[in-house]
Amino acid sequence: MTGANGVTGSPGRAPCDVLVVGFGPVGATMAGLLARRGVDVVAIDREVDVYPLPRAAHFDQEIMRIVQELGALDDIAPSTRPLPGMDFLTADRQVLLSMRSGDRTRSGFPSSVLFHQPGFDRAIRDHAVQLGARTLLGIELVSIDQHADHVTAHLGDGSSIEARWVVACDGARSTVRKAIGTTMDDLEFEEPWLVLDLVLADGTPPPADVCFQVCDPARPHTLVPMPAPRFRFEFMLLPGEDPQWIQQPEVMIDLLSAWVDPTTVTIERAAVYTFHGLVAHRWRDGRVLLAGDAAHQMPPFLGQGMCSGMRDAANLAWKLARVLRGESDAALLDTYQAERSPHVRAIVESAVGFGRLICTTDTAAAAARDEAMLAARAAAGESEPSGDDGGGLMPPLGPGPLVLDGGGSQAVQVTLDGVRCDDEIGDRFLVVVRSRLAHAAALDEWERAGAFVADASVDPRWAATLDAFTPPADAVVVRPDRYVLAAGSECPPVPPILATAG
Ligand SMILES: Cc1cc2nc3c(=O)[nH]c(=O)nc-3n(C[C@H](O)[C@H](O)[C@H](O)COP(=O)(O)OP(=O)(O)OC[C@H]3O[C@@H](n4cnc5c(N)ncnc54)[C@H](O)[C@@H]3O)c2cc1C
Repeated sequence: MTGANGVTGSPGRAPCDVLVVGFGPVGATMAGLLARRGVDVVAIDREVDVYPLPRAAHFDQEIMRIVQELGALDDIAPSTRPLPGMDFLTADRQVLLSMRSGDRTRSGFPSSVLFHQPGFDRAIRDHAVQLGARTLLGIELVSIDQHADHVTAHLGDGSSIEARWVVACDGARSTVRKAIGTTMDDLEFEEPWLVLDLVLADGTPPPADVCFQVCDPARPHTLVPMPAPRFRFEFMLLPGEDPQWIQQPEVMIDLLSAWVDPTTVTIERAAVYTFHGLVAHRWRDGRVLLAGDAAHQMPPFLGQGMCSGMRDAANLAWKLARVLRGESDAALLDTYQAERSPHVRAIVESAVGFGRLICTTDTAAAAARDEAMLAARAAAGESEPSGDDGGGLMPPLGPGPLVLDGGGSQAVQVTLDGVRCDDEIGDRFLVVVRSRLAHAAALDEWERAGAFVADASVDPRWAATLDAFTPPADAVVVRPDRYVLAAGSECPPVPPILATAG
């Protein structure tokens, strides 16, 4: 794929197909997934290196599948730690709710893992560059001008770069979001929390093996068993508390002493973050698209902020590549917000809902909550709600022409002769059928469109993809982001939105 047609850049700043603004975890994923598809992509970041301290601590199996697509599994998977689940506790540590991770996931990876973000971010960046992304680091984007066939981005060093498309992955305070004038829908959650990352001394056991959400009205707090030797605590600031006061060593040691012997830990980082629940109203303006924290922010109680941004990147990358290759019209890009916004909004609402549960400081309300939840747990025989099986607890994609009956969740990844099928299929659609004979006309059309067709009557290992549905499907169409387009008794024709009008 060549650079932008008919556009010029400042000296030394060759134009590109896509300018990704922000080379954080979402921007690096976006750049890598585009470069992997042959797109000429430049990623720009005002910082030279990755942010040196972790914010995100958890990601899920779907993110590991994106890491697989970036070719970064061997660099990232060994340093993660599986997370068996999350318990919500009363102030005196009775279990209010216990969530356990599912054993089987659609991707084949552990349902939930904990990780150390700086190493993860660096690996994703490195792979984006290996895949062909160009970078401009240590330079800020200041403003953008949109034109009919390109966008001019003005940079902090006085230069500019032209791109056919811009994807803004420039975080919560996104300059690009402000430039396109979109506002955020505010779910009215705003709570400051102290985040304490600890290094445990040799031989010190972690204070918890699962994540604890301690719903103590006197001081709601969270325990996160990061990969050894790290451990994270998060403490809510009470109304009126000074963020400087709570970060004094003696105050932090006092907070920790309920769970650990402070002489066995080193505080690696202390920071106060204010958690929000926000979703942008418009994710696309002409040739500019938003992804990650630029498009949405959520409290971290479900560990889904970065995950949601990486899902944005996976959803958008294959669509943008098709548009750039001239295989689809730009209208395809309107399916991005239509599919992703309802999905992410449901997760933000869930995270805010859990946040309100955890952040209760009214003692009477907390006592009533505890009584109701303990009674519900006793009535259910203390059975643990099943965890995320790799799609079960995730909302479906929003509706649209690429989400038909049975679609909207991720497909099973089968392994054939030691090879994971995603690696074999690459950037193609996958169509799995019980028997080719029953769907001949539609399959011919999908094959002409470049799809990979698998017939379970010839290779029964593909039946797992069909049997994941209730009732089992006879035909499943899977998109290049591994989301199911349709699953049912009939194989649908290729949706017109995938073609060009001309
Ligand atoms: C305490 C805490 C815990 C969290 N835990 C989790 C978790 O467990 N799991 C999870 O999935 N998420 C979690 N999150 C959320 C997660 O950290 C964010 O959702 C994620 O970092 C967003 O990634 P991003 O790439 O969109 O933005 P960022 O990580 O903010 O990256 C934006 C990048 O853009 C660059 N940039 C900004 N403006 C410009 C500009 N004008 N020009 C050039 N470059 C620019 C910045 O330098 C930065 O590198 C947590 C967040 C916090 C605060």
